[in-house]
Amino acid sequence: MAQVDDGAEARFALGHEVGEIACGLFPTGEMVEAHPDLAAAVTRTRELIDAGWSEPIFEATFEHDGVLVRVDVLSPRPDGWAIAEVKSSASVKEYHLGDLATQVWVMTNAGVPVSSACIRHIDSSFRLQREGDYTGLFHDADRLDVLADRIGERSKVVAEARAVLAGDEPDIGAGDHCSRPFVCEFSSHCTRNDPPAPEWPISLLPRTGKAVAALWAEEGLFDLRELGPGDLTSALHERVRLATVTGEVYHDGEGALEATRGWAWPRAYLDFETIGPAVPRWIGARPFQQIPFQFSCHIETEAGELTHAGFLSIDGGDPRRACAEALVELLSGDRCGSIIAYNASFEKRCVRDLAEVFPDLAQALVEIEAKIVDLLPVTRNAYYHRDQRGSWSIKAVLPTVAPELAYNDLDVKDGGAAQQAWFEAADAAASAERREQLRAGLEAYCERDTGAMVVLLRRLTGDERASRREGRG
Ligand code: SF4
Repeated sequence: MAQVDDGAEARFALGHEVGEIACGLFPTGEMVEAHPDLAAAVTRTRELIDAGWSEPIFEATFEHDGVLVRVDVLSPRPDGWAIAEVKSSASVKEYHLGDLATQVWVMTNAGVPVSSACIRHIDSSFRLQREGDYTGLFHDADRLDVLADRIGERSKVVAEARAVLAGDEPDIGAGDHCSRPFVCEFSSHCTRNDPPAPEWPISLLPRTGKAVAALWAEEGLFDLRELGPGDLTSALHERVRLATVTGEVYHDGEGALEATRGWAWPRAYLDFETIGPAVPRWIGARPFQQIPFQFSCHIETEAGELTHAGFLSIDGGDPRRACAEALVELLSGDRCGSIIAYNASFEKRCVRDLAEVFPDLAQALVEIEAKIVDLLPVTRNAYYHRDQRGSWSIKAVLPTVAPELAYNDLDVKDGGAAQQAWFEAADAAASAERREQLRAGLEAYCERDTGAMVVLLRRLTGDERASRREGRG
């Protein structure tokens, strides 16, 4: 039974939105409908071409040798027809080219001359200047000149596909091809008879784990516990191996204390939730730019008092101004010392982007950005529990440090779910009751993130404040 992965629906929705915008840029274009059936679409496309249609055709449909293709945007040129396949990515991907080659092959064999074949992808340098004006959102990357080999193989590919369809289930083992570029829907079917995966696969090693695992696989070794001292060249990998073999936690409390001693009080713990739509919604925004719609902030005094504040916008409007004002109100000037984030480059980027958009708040925001320090490298250097399985994401670390603060009890459990919740709440069709549910879920989730950082730092350093208070006493 096919199983569609979680991100598939969002990818389809995004593709649909981007496709609509791409068509909207040519208001005189003609859409070839797939109704009543695709044979009618082929006939309608042929009618337009034969009649000398001089505007773009959307979903132009062709058939050759039983293979049917629908071209997103087909535009007439003096020397033939220009194919444009619209993609919501910021660049051409290798897997786009097979589809493009098939389209050229079908069209050419159907007697329609092709003058160019491009991937029409998002131009990430685009910036929305006027509401609803997406002129310039796309960049055309013509790839006709590199498709010759692929086009030449199409007949063979089609014959092989037919043979597969006519025969028994092919005997091909699962591998990298099952997850690239997307997870195959039949993965659970094809791996049903595989031997169980190793409990602690070598591939869980951070950063280069997959490459290291591939080398050891040649030796017939798959589990980290099969390796010994000296087998791994990276000190970090050896730390992970040792913790995995022994089950003992690596914890360098002194190192954590030393690395964070200079972080000024009162300390603020900051975390943003963002959306990064491929199609910018608000003036001045770029494609894929991360737009903060929420932040959570715990502030901790040197005496150990903890307060919490946050910001959340779910009305579907541009959240940036209100977010920037709330940040300045909470954190500017001497309201806090160091601002602690986890993987701080992200929070810094968000604050910098806000400073760029709002010159009147820029000075205060730049000062806020300068105070941001990063808890992630401190954690990576000072702590490892084997249950992190090679990851230092806060969601991997937290259950090993403070199981009571894991995310299982929350409605919103990760950043992807937070984005989905925002889109659902911002939709005008959402009921007031549902919107309040989503608001509560988002607030609980983001507050958990910064609360987790407080607990993590205290435990990493052996609670510096408590020790100091005891020393003074
Ligand atoms: S072998 Fe991999 S790619 Fe092929 S059907 Fe099975 S899971 Fe999908």
